[in-house]
Amino acid sequence: MGKDKCVICGAPAHRMLPVANFVEFDCQDCRNYAINEDILRALVEDGRSFNVERTRTYLESERVDGRAPTITRLETVLHDLLGPITIWD
Ligand SMILES: [Zn+2]
Repeated sequence: MGKDKCVICGAPAHRMLPVANFVEFDCQDCRNYAINEDILRALVEDGRSFNVERTRTYLESERVDGRAPTITRLETVLHDLLGPITIWD
């Protein structure tokens, strides 16, 4: 378990080792979630970020028995989880 940043809100978060192409984060604000590595790459390549409100709402709706909900490319599209394109410095 390492120190990293939450890919949803940017707060300090724990990043677990990847399991089957999913990386699990534990953020004090977004709580725990697992995200597909393809999405992480795509976010960086496309300069996109998550819409924090919509993503947290989605995660809470998917959280069952404390298990980490997952975010894949399909969910980001279905639930419109990405925010506007960000131009990085
Ligand atoms: Zn977060």
